[in-house]
Amino acid sequence: MSKLVYAFDEGHKDLKDLLGGKGANLSEMKCLGLPVPDGFTITTEACIDYLRRGQSLSDEVKAQLTEQLQAFSERTGKAFSSDDNLLLVSVRSGAKISMPGMMDTILNLGLNDENVEKLAEKTNDARFAYDCYRRLLQMFGEVVYNIPMTAFDTYFDGYKKEHGYVNDADISSDGLKEICNHYKEVYVENAYKPFPQEPLDQLLEAVEAVFRSWDNDRARVYRDLNDIPHDIGTAVNVQEMVFGNSGSKSGTGVAFTRNPVTGEPKLFGEYLLNAQGEDVVAGIRTPQDIATLKEQLPHVHEAFVKVSEQLEAHYKDMQDIEFTIENEQLYILQTRNGKRTAKAAMQIAVDLVEEGVLTKEEAVTKVDVKSIDTLLHPTFKEEALEEAEVVSKAGLPASPGAATGRVVFSAEEAKLRAEQGEKVILMRPETSPEDIEGMIASEAIVTTHGGMTSHAAVVARGMGKCCVTGCSDLDIDTVNKTVTYAGGIINELDEVSVDGADGDIYVGAIETTSAENSEAFDQFMAWAKEVARLKVRMNAETKPDIEAGYQFDAMGIGLVRTEHMFFGAERLVEMRRFILSSDQETRIQALNKIRDYQTEDFEQIFRLSGERPTIVRLLDPPLHEFLPKGDDEVRNVAQQLNISEQQLNKRIAELHETNPMLGHRGCRLAITYPELYVMQAEAIMGSVARLKEEGINCQPEIMIPLVSTVEEFKLLKAQIVECVDQLMEETGQSLTYLIGTMIETPRACMVAGALAEECDFFSFGTNDLTQLTYGFSRDDAGKFINEYVTNNILAVDPFQTIDRDGVGALIDIAVTQAKAAKPSLKIGVCGELGGDPKSIGYFNNLAIDYVSCSPFRVPGAILATAQSEVERGRL
Ligand code: PEP
Ligand code: MG
Repeated sequence: MSKLVYAFDEGHKDLKDLLGGKGANLSEMKCLGLPVPDGFTITTEACIDYLRRGQSLSDEVKAQLTEQLQAFSERTGKAFSSDDNLLLVSVRSGAKISMPGMMDTILNLGLNDENVEKLAEKTNDARFAYDCYRRLLQMFGEVVYNIPMTAFDTYFDGYKKEHGYVNDADISSDGLKEICNHYKEVYVENAYKPFPQEPLDQLLEAVEAVFRSWDNDRARVYRDLNDIPHDIGTAVNVQEMVFGNSGSKSGTGVAFTRNPVTGEPKLFGEYLLNAQGEDVVAGIRTPQDIATLKEQLPHVHEAFVKVSEQLEAHYKDMQDIEFTIENEQLYILQTRNGKRTAKAAMQIAVDLVEEGVLTKEEAVTKVDVKSIDTLLHPTFKEEALEEAEVVSKAGLPASPGAATGRVVFSAEEAKLRAEQGEKVILMRPETSPEDIEGMIASEAIVTTHGGMTSHAAVVARGMGKCCVTGCSDLDIDTVNKTVTYAGGIINELDEVSVDGADGDIYVGAIETTSAENSEAFDQFMAWAKEVARLKVRMNAETKPDIEAGYQFDAMGIGLVRTEHMFFGAERLVEMRRFILSSDQETRIQALNKIRDYQTEDFEQIFRLSGERPTIVRLLDPPLHEFLPKGDDEVRNVAQQLNISEQQLNKRIAELHETNPMLGHRGCRLAITYPELYVMQAEAIMGSVARLKEEGINCQPEIMIPLVSTVEEFKLLKAQIVECVDQLMEETGQSLTYLIGTMIETPRACMVAGALAEECDFFSFGTNDLTQLTYGFSRDDAGKFINEYVTNNILAVDPFQTIDRDGVGALIDIAVTQAKAAKPSLKIGVCGELGGDPKSIGYFNNLAIDYVSCSPFRVPGAILATAQSEVERGRL
């Protein structure tokens, strides 16, 4: 029988799969000799077993748990039934991957009607004892019996009001006793059973409840969002209680060893004196800065600084540490690698390399690829901010970003409106884990309560979502749906702008400006490039996009979609003239004009690319995409082209296709209209010739799309080569260029060896290749693919992340055949998967040379290629 319960001193940090992150780190800290309250961990395996049995604890788990409890009792000299040395414990969840606030916690377990009196006597503080008891009654009721929070809170708030108390601390011990008695009635009214008085029963029920919480809705949503598997279960940690609420020399707090927003190497955290457990994280009271602990409890501060340095050095990473102080004695309750903004992650990684703690290779694995996006997003324009009307400047910059949207006051409303395409800002006194879906749907989150480690702050930062917390100068009234601020009132659906970098909020929508890079970003990305094997190019054709991609260090252009250049008003007219006219001369005139436009366009692109390789793909979409739609447009175009509406409609009907995606598109267009590709090849090489005169040696790569047979490619290549030869003769210039194909059809994959012999390069068009491998229309798959994923028919949407078994296998076959036939063949990927970190991990293991993606995905792709390379080195 496997071991299902581990004492803290029996584990270590590498047992996360079994003990969860929290349990493994508690064990590690215990072994390091740090002041960790004793306890034990019930494994994830026990959780999986519990859920598999239809929510029932096996006898084996129960037996091992009782045995560990006994040993634990002997070690601490405390017992649930002892008069002098009462044992009280906390019960907390702890999955392998941290899911902050997503599952449940119970504190002060072991108290009952008898033990509460013992605790009162022992501490000589009945108020404290009954405060602990009422917290247990409430937490246990909510977590184990699903009693609504309001059943307790309404009574508690009413009691305070009735007796004129402002703070919880004002309630007397008799008052708390009365509240406890009422809470016990709440059990009977809501759960139809009394609060269990036997501590062992409490413990077993609590463990089961934590196991069940693995499957609650908010935990599932969180896992979906963070790609955490649903079948790994959570561990449960049972730990001796230490009391942060036992007077003014006690307290509880959370601190990061470095600033999680900026990365500054300075202790950053908050604490509350005379408070218990989750008070800081829950954000109900606004906590104090950790720096003031130095004045209030200097020895504790000193001890904490030491522990934080030791933990950071040990884990070689910034730590997020939870601590409790009981009568000036420091206890560490948790440590984990701290969540941080992308900006902080880069700064910390760079600093740790400079401090000699990490190597460059280790450093590049420390930044989550997904988080890079947040660095690249815009911020508000300085001048626009100066003129904007301020709503609040009292808030904390919990998570960066610049967001504008309409105000909503509930998570449900946020979700509903976002589904209708509206941009919303969720404003609440505080958030709780139930709000997760609304938070995902919002552009930004604003709260009045709570600090930098409140639920809203931690969760938003993890998502890379703009968030401002602790706006104490606002009155957010979720019932009447108003926000009162110094300058007036904001109503539901009014527009506001939220600056997550400064913590400020403004009236109306404010103009934004693009992101600025920091020195740390440049240094970090330079290391990522050094470590990476795969190169990263961009898919782009407009000037701003190309400039952005090169700013992000793209190594060339992997895909210019030439059709995107046909949609300007004058160009479209000529394209339509070419497609619609039956008179050969008119068609040639139209094509000549298009050639001139294209030459100009290509000249701009090649000038921006300079001597970096640039792939231009020849025309790909079905011709009817260029045709007028609707009666009015048809009438206008007929006039423009000087043909009758009837003629035009006839031609439109001729060009109609039942399945355009499988129809007359890609290289098939040039089989029937050879002059199209010839014209484009002339424009490409004409622009290259002009630039050569200026001394710029471009590296053009001409790409033919949607090829499925070698003969298609050979025929079109011959036409292009002939026209370029002619151009060289006319200009007297010798021009170099490559000519290759996209691999977008399963057949092309299967004949890749023969194709390679004719090509200089391949580029996998994974959008079409996925479409054609599955037979899922790219345009219609959105209607059903979510159902596939929800029902586990597909693990992921194959248009977003490579399907290794099908599409991936085809790519593997094609790459292997092609490289065998022609080892010098350059191979790239330019579909959407070229920018997806997981897919990049797959491509990096094949003989592929580069990936290409949209400009803003370039830094993420570079980092993903580096991380994949480090990962490969480890295998
Ligand atoms: C592809 O099919 O993956 C591709 C890059 O081409 P497009 O998306 O333009 O069809
Ligand atoms: Mg394609």
